[in-house]
Amino acid sequence: MIRFSANWVLPVSDAPIDGGVVAIDEGRIVSVASGETGADVALGRVAILPSLVNAHTHLELSYLHRRIPPAQRFLDWVRPMLAARRERTAVDDTVILQAATQAIQSARAAGTGLMGDVTNTLAAVPLLDEAGMAARVFHELIGFTGLHADEQVASARRAIDALVVDEDIRLSLAPHAPYSVSPALFSAIRHDLDDHGSVVSTVHLGESPEEVEFLKTGSGPWRVLLEELGVWNGAWQAPRSSPVEYLTEMGFLDASVLAVHGVQFEGTDLDRLRALGVTLVSCPRSNRHVGVGSPPLEAFYAMDVEVAIGTDSLASVDDLNMFGELAEARRIAPKVSARALLRSATLTGARALGFESEFGSIEAGKRAALLAVRVPDGVSDVEEYLVSGVEPASIEWLPSTPAPRRGSGWPEGPSKANSRFPTPR
Ligand SMILES: [Zn+2]
Repeated sequence: MIRFSANWVLPVSDAPIDGGVVAIDEGRIVSVASGETGADVALGRVAILPSLVNAHTHLELSYLHRRIPPAQRFLDWVRPMLAARRERTAVDDTVILQAATQAIQSARAAGTGLMGDVTNTLAAVPLLDEAGMAARVFHELIGFTGLHADEQVASARRAIDALVVDEDIRLSLAPHAPYSVSPALFSAIRHDLDDHGSVVSTVHLGESPEEVEFLKTGSGPWRVLLEELGVWNGAWQAPRSSPVEYLTEMGFLDASVLAVHGVQFEGTDLDRLRALGVTLVSCPRSNRHVGVGSPPLEAFYAMDVEVAIGTDSLASVDDLNMFGELAEARRIAPKVSARALLRSATLTGARALGFESEFGSIEAGKRAALLAVRVPDGVSDVEEYLVSGVEPASIEWLPSTPAPRRGSGWPEGPSKANSRFPTPR
């Protein structure tokens, strides 16, 4: 057992502790208590907090970093994005895999311990597994024509069942979005999820004004694009409702679903999501980049909807640093407390992804996937500091397993980086 003391401990499941000790044994949290006596390692001016949970990424798109410029309107971002993905065959697979590997490493260096990753190709699955990054991987399906939905789902199911991965990599199916998935495909995916114990799923929802227009009227830029792509479904009828109403009527939304973005959601949508227990995943930096505006985060919290945070992919955000995402959330939602934002980036994400027993808070029995963030002199409100944009240089992973001391340095833990913190006494 090893005990770390720090000037601040943020259990998340409980109020922050000024001066606390966290005891760890065999990779698990044994206890958390106030007072700094009896520690093996005194960390001083750091905050110990649970590792962060990035509830929405697309690691396989990491190779598109800085290749799709910011747009003023969503479709002006989607079109070059689709063109870049069509050229994917011209991109060497090793480039794609290297970019995804690097993205996982930099996410970990910035304090992320668990991800919700969306994939069409399953390419990043072995990379997550090798890197030891816990993840809920969503095998995302797209198909608006309504043809062969059952076959598509059966084939995707076979593909994820064939993967041999650690139990920290949990796979399920997910539909992309209401404008790219037919009712038949939504329904086939829902059956698969129910057949597997209402397993966690996700869907992009309420991201752009064009999506709202499409569902209300059946026309607009999405209709044009679907026709251009040759995937228009002549039998499809616009539901003349909001994205949330549409998927609620369809029976797709429930407490096992993470609805991503919600930039266009209003009061009644938020009421509905709260009643259904849906977790909203907000990715505010990506929303700005793709030209859909900023999400009404203050309304999400005011309406008591469960909110998790994600970065989205490197195709629409500059890095996968969740502390950067928190800083943007803080900027656009000054009325939301730093504490609430930190909870979203930890416990709410872990719960939504189905990893609550392992991640998201500092509680006895959970995995010791903990961060020590250096707090500069002069900072008195640590929670506020943690949502102001922390850089990897200030972040250290706590070693989770005691190992023989080797003269100096910390016992070896999940982080291979040299410790910048004081050596154990
Ligand atoms: Zn996404």
